[in-house]
Amino acid sequence: MKRPDPQQNGGEAFVNCDGTVAEAPRLKKIQFADQKLEFNKRPTKIGRRSLSRSISQSSTDSYSSAASYTDSSDDETSPRDKQQKNSKGNADFCIKNIKQADFGRREIEIAEQEMPALMALRKRAQGEKPLAGAKIVGCTHITAQTAVLMETLSALGAQCRWAACNIYSTQNEVAAALAEGGFSVFAWKGESEDDFWWCIDRCVNVEGWQPNMILDDGGDLTHWIYKKYPNMFKKIKGIVEESVTGVHRLYQLSKAGKLCVPAMNVNDSVTKQKFDNLYCCRESILDGLKRTTDVMFGGKQVVVCGYGEVGKGCSAALKAMGSIVYVTEIDPICALQACMDGFRLVKLNEVIRQVDIVITCTGNKNVVVREYMDRMKNGCIVCNMGHSNTEIDVASLRTPELTWERVRSQVDHVIWPDGKRIVLLAEGRLLNLSCSTVPTFVLSITATTQALALIELYNAPEGRYKQDVYLLPKKMDGGAATRSGFSLSRQNGVFVFFVL
Ligand code: NAD
Repeated sequence: MKRPDPQQNGGEAFVNCDGTVAEAPRLKKIQFADQKLEFNKRPTKIGRRSLSRSISQSSTDSYSSAASYTDSSDDETSPRDKQQKNSKGNADFCIKNIKQADFGRREIEIAEQEMPALMALRKRAQGEKPLAGAKIVGCTHITAQTAVLMETLSALGAQCRWAACNIYSTQNEVAAALAEGGFSVFAWKGESEDDFWWCIDRCVNVEGWQPNMILDDGGDLTHWIYKKYPNMFKKIKGIVEESVTGVHRLYQLSKAGKLCVPAMNVNDSVTKQKFDNLYCCRESILDGLKRTTDVMFGGKQVVVCGYGEVGKGCSAALKAMGSIVYVTEIDPICALQACMDGFRLVKLNEVIRQVDIVITCTGNKNVVVREYMDRMKNGCIVCNMGHSNTEIDVASLRTPELTWERVRSQVDHVIWPDGKRIVLLAEGRLLNLSCSTVPTFVLSITATTQALALIELYNAPEGRYKQDVYLLPKKMDGGAATRSGFSLSRQNGVFVFFVL
């Protein structure tokens, strides 16, 4: 079950955590994007607004659902300057506005409807508390879906403290509902870089409370603890990591012999791959295109570059809407699959003049280069669903002869000297992450997988997991996908799962 190191590049050394290793020279090697070690430098209003992306690399690897419906810009007072208490007098949180709690509660109730596996887990473990005594510190997107996860973990016996893994994705009203419900949440939409690390620190640096489990999305929380509080790892039983970036950071630690607790790689679980990549994209491609362009799909000619999981999802969705879909592929098996699924396999240069929409989903770079964009027809929509924003060579469009016109948030017209324009979405970044929501049901699968991983690591008998990165055991990986849930029971003091 142990997964080999994926040999990702960019390896860095990290500090050890065995008590002897938190030495200054090594600390320097931990890289926090734009890290700030002191929190007394307060951001200016302009500073907060001018951040164009999250300081956390993880922010582009994992999904946030809808952005907050409550815009933080209506109140410019930093939450750090506010004294707030919930209705029970508890003040151990820092959020935008506790008065939004009722609204947030309704958002959470809506999310619960689409998170059956998590609700089943909550119900089935009612009698037993597999997370009794667990003190989980979490750093994920703070959305209604995360709230359902946190409340499930709490129902299973855990205490939770939480920060956001992305400075923009927090739903303020949901954070308010969680704070009202007694959770120590430190997050708001539009945090500054300084706020981001301050919130993480408030989660872990607290009198009389020490985490024994980590749930991370991107690895920033894990590495903050490695850097600032390495001794905490003496009590930590395990790390559950959600994103591709965080998983790579864990493999780097492992490779360097610096990982001092077992870690569970949720990113590569079968359920996440199959649901996130295929079904999530099948739905969110339409949402992203519709929100940005209001385009009619029926009758449109679309070329999808790459027929992996993401490409399959995008192609299927557009075909179902009545679009004429062409596929480009470099892998013969995937190319054959595209043919067997009824798509016309083409080379991009064969169709580039005629298509209305171009979608990249290859994980490769320079798939759509300037030469192709020069030949596109007027009004062609160009977007990317792959991880990297280099699939479309956007840099080649930043030349003096081309005019850029921002027509909507995340929508640019790039205009050629003869008046031809293409519609570039999200400047070539992931369309669905930038411009649409992600289905709650998909997040439910991932959240359930996270909960199962936490339970497994927390309850694992001595010696089952070493200081390494593991995939979720197969039985549990599938468990999250079982709509009706799974069976949980205790055997010889150890919790085990059976898929129904
Ligand atoms: P995959 O490896 O299953 O599929 C990628 C396909 O693209 C492969 O079949 C490959 O042969 C093909 N390909 C590579 N270069 C190509 C080229 N130049 N022209 C045509 N085809 C080419 O990967 P996947 O799971 O489909 O993921 C694709 C990308 O989407 C990755 O970058 C992944 O990180 C990202 N992703 C995005 C989302 C999202 O929500 N938008 C979700 C999951 C993954």
